[in-house]
Amino acid sequence: MLYLSTRGHPDRKHFCEILLEGLAPDGGLYLPERYPQVDAATLAKWRGLPYADLAFEILSLYIDDIPAADLRAICRKTYTQEVFGTREIVPLKKLEEGVYLEGLSNGPTLAFKDMAMQLLGNLFEYELGRRGEELNILGATSGDTGSAAEYAMRGKKGVRVFMTSPHGRMSPFQQAQMFSLQDANIHNLAVEGVFDDCQDIVKAVSNDLEFKRKYRIGTVNSINWARLVAQVVYYFAGYFQAAKANGEKVSFAVPSGNFGNICAGHVARSMGLPIAQLVLATNENDVLDEFFRTGVYRVRGSADTYETSSPSMDISKASNFERFVFDLLGRDGAKVRSLFAEELPARGRFDLSGDIARARSQYGFVSGRSSHADRLATIRSTFERFGTLIDTHTADGLKVAREHLQPGTPMIVLETALPIKFAATIVEALGREPERPARFAGIEALPKRVTVLPADAARVKQFIAAHCA
Ligand SMILES: *Cc1c(COP(=O)(O)O)cnc(C)c1O
Repeated sequence: MLYLSTRGHPDRKHFCEILLEGLAPDGGLYLPERYPQVDAATLAKWRGLPYADLAFEILSLYIDDIPAADLRAICRKTYTQEVFGTREIVPLKKLEEGVYLEGLSNGPTLAFKDMAMQLLGNLFEYELGRRGEELNILGATSGDTGSAAEYAMRGKKGVRVFMTSPHGRMSPFQQAQMFSLQDANIHNLAVEGVFDDCQDIVKAVSNDLEFKRKYRIGTVNSINWARLVAQVVYYFAGYFQAAKANGEKVSFAVPSGNFGNICAGHVARSMGLPIAQLVLATNENDVLDEFFRTGVYRVRGSADTYETSSPSMDISKASNFERFVFDLLGRDGAKVRSLFAEELPARGRFDLSGDIARARSQYGFVSGRSSHADRLATIRSTFERFGTLIDTHTADGLKVAREHLQPGTPMIVLETALPIKFAATIVEALGREPERPARFAGIEALPKRVTVLPADAARVKQFIAAHCA
């Protein structure tokens, strides 16, 4: 299996070559040359496999440069009951006839990003060990991504993490999760500024090519193909739990921000998994809902990006969206390049209203948006009717899912975080604190390991240089 760039670059690469890379050389995103097709016999074989073995089967279709025995061992080491809390790994919970929640947030940091990041940590350690190389991961986080990356990379050989976050702006729980890690290879950098300052620092450091090469700077952001392919697995696992027989169709509702999670659903559907609809849910930051309703993709500036109570979906520009546009436009790299490298930077928008009907008819996409009031109402009614407490992002997904129910087609809402991560809104909705898993009892009181730095790329570089032995 070879990988190409969405912007038409002629190079073709193997999985392990793109594993440690970010963007393709022409600024595009990597995708496989084709989507392997899964037929009825394969579905029958996969139904009933333990999650780790299902992951191995799916990943093997995309990875031809890791020996099968090693890849299987990596999957089995990653997806364990010990790390993810249940034997199913992604247990399905029925809310009512035809409406299910798929639990993707029972990993170490209680958000779905663990599903992919835990695998990435083991793949990085394996590949770096094989090459005898080291990698220094530099990132910016406002919460979920940073903690998922740190818990995935802690104690891994050959990897150091330097994670910037806006000083004093994450929730006390999120700060405690990250800053209580005592592993020598994890470095928390609290930057005196906002999240955008952190991102600017990461960009400035990455643009210093000499520094980047000398200190082997890499990233783990959501455009990484390995993260995306890891997420394909739970669409299959959810399908097997909700559909009684292979061939039956199900729909998925996905709380979306950077379009990474739902892009994995698009890949699963393109492989032949019987998915009726992919229901994309946004919060008040509705760039993607606007696109799927009108065909116009109009990115927002930071002044028009709202801070909401589902903060992990507060994005103004969806970094994975280019992958879907590439498929929608018949994999025309030249066209994608002109849209994303020319039209979007120049005009802040592009118009695919002529193609948008096919996004629905051929690719199954529908969408909707949810507001703070919707989240409160959905959290409240879900708790009152079913005794189930959901987080704010999952509430956005469930609210929009209900607008697209089709009789006879099960709807699986992806649960992307646990309510404890966003306790303030739960209290606002229900007047009570969400339950906290026992292993997080009292983490706010643990000693913190964090360095406060000014919003200055030079100071961050100094810190990295001083901590790379
Ligand atoms: C990251 C995140 C999302 C958005 O996922 P994308 O892949 O960026 O679309 C939704 N909910 C939670 C809790 C998240 O952490």
